Amino acid sequence: MFCKYCGEEVTEGVKYCSSCGHPIDNNIDIDFTKKEEGPVVDTGPYKVFAIIGYVYGFASLAFCWCPYMFFAMIPGIVLACLGTNSKNETKRNQAATGRTLTIIATAINVILTIAFTVFWIAFAFDMAKRN
Ligand SMILES: [Zn+2]
Repeated sequence: MFCKYCGEEVTEGVKYCSSCGHPIDNNIDIDFTKKEEGPVVDTGPYKVFAIIGYVYGFASLAFCWCPYMFFAMIPGIVLACLGTNSKNETKRNQAATGRTLTIIATAINVILTIAFTVFWIAFAFDMAKRN
C-alpha cells in the first residue's frame, strides 16, 4: 500500500508513514483504491456525441453512394471528434471508429460527387451541341 499524503510505499499494518510521518489510516486507503476500480462513467454530453458519432459513421457509409451526401456527413465528423473527449474509454473508441468511418465515407462521396457532376455537365454540353 501507499501513503496517501506523500505517495511513498509503506509496509502493510504500520501506523505511521516512514517517509513523512503521517498516521496511516487503513480504511481511507481502501476507499482510495476502490475509487480507481471499474469503468469511468461519463454522464456528460461527450458520451452522447460519441454515440451519435458512432452511428453516424455507419449511416454515412450506407449512404456514401448518394451524390452530394458529404454535406450531411460533415456534422458527423464534428460530433465524433467531440465524442473522443468522453471520460469513458469505450465511448472514446466508438467515437474514434465513427470518425474514421465518416471520413472514409466523405472521401468516397466527394470523389463520386465530382464524377457524377462531370458526367452530367458533359452530358448537358453534348445535348446542347446536338440541338
Ligand atoms: Zn507519507
